[in-house]
Amino acid sequence: MLDEFTRIARFFKPLASGYGGALGLGDDAALVSVPEGHELVVTADAMVEGVHFLMNQSPESIARRLLRSNLSDLAAMGAVPHAYMLVTSLPQHVAGVWLEAFTRALHEDQHLFSCHLIGGDSVSTKGPITLSITALGLVPVGAALRRTIKKPLAHAASFDLYVTGTIGDSALGLQLVLDKKVGGLDSADEEYLKQRHLAPTPRLKEGIFLREHALAAIDISDGLVADCEHIAEQSGLEIIINAADIPLSPAAQKALAADPALLETVLTGGEDYELAFVAEPGDAAMLKQNGFTKIGRVQHGVAGACTVLDKKNQPVRFTRKGWQHF
Ligand code: ADP
Ligand code: MG
Repeated sequence: MLDEFTRIARFFKPLASGYGGALGLGDDAALVSVPEGHELVVTADAMVEGVHFLMNQSPESIARRLLRSNLSDLAAMGAVPHAYMLVTSLPQHVAGVWLEAFTRALHEDQHLFSCHLIGGDSVSTKGPITLSITALGLVPVGAALRRTIKKPLAHAASFDLYVTGTIGDSALGLQLVLDKKVGGLDSADEEYLKQRHLAPTPRLKEGIFLREHALAAIDISDGLVADCEHIAEQSGLEIIINAADIPLSPAAQKALAADPALLETVLTGGEDYELAFVAEPGDAAMLKQNGFTKIGRVQHGVAGACTVLDKKNQPVRFTRKGWQHF
């Protein structure tokens, strides 16, 4: 068992190199300067062993999901990643090899997403592993995307609802990670879905692009329906989603063809880390051309409701709306 200072020096300090204000993780706190005309966007996300991951998952995938879920919150605000803080609460049995793999994956992701570790805290626990990241991003003052639709909606008018990427892959991938059977898939499909769960892609470029074009945005962490309800609630409007318009990966299409009941998993499973956003109808052609998929609309109606319609325009009923833990 390494002492705390050796652990910090060996595993965490290398992740701070290249960021002057991290002070080599050798001081009481880090210094962050915010460029003129920008503001800091700050978010935190924690993961608990047995709740958000199981110990048989690789430390690399735990690291990626932890950092990327935070970066997804930055994406949903239209921010550029800048730095992050890490709090580790580890039981005695977590060895150096685990931390080595965990921090190696963080290091790779730092390069991918252009940010640095600038500090944190390390505590020991008799309980499960608990990991928390606080991510800092930058956005021009006033340009952050918000969940609240920023423009009034005229009576009898509607806005459009869009998503990035494809929906449901992560929830299906989780089934496979947990060794639950999903029919209709070959091994490449299974691997694709697992990776979508284990290494989600924060939609950072899209978030920056959408600063100019979205009226509201949210990242899909709880599940498409639950997160769209957040937009509807914040704006006092109703959201209608057409199930047939939801973009699905080829693997998810095969899984749904084999078992149509998986639609509920796709719509409510969560951890997609795609963005859902609201835009003006006049931007439809431009947004389509840029790869975004229109899946529904926002209108006056039952404030705070999100209704999913099937091909016959009948509401789809769910037994649950959002992501549930193990
Ligand atoms: P203190 O006791 O004053 O809180 P620590 O010994 O906890 O100081 O931390 C020393 C330095 O190491 C600080 O700069 C802190 O930000 C950094 N640090 C500690 N734990 C972590 C961690 N898990 N990840 C990144 N930096 C850490
Ligand atoms: Mg401390």
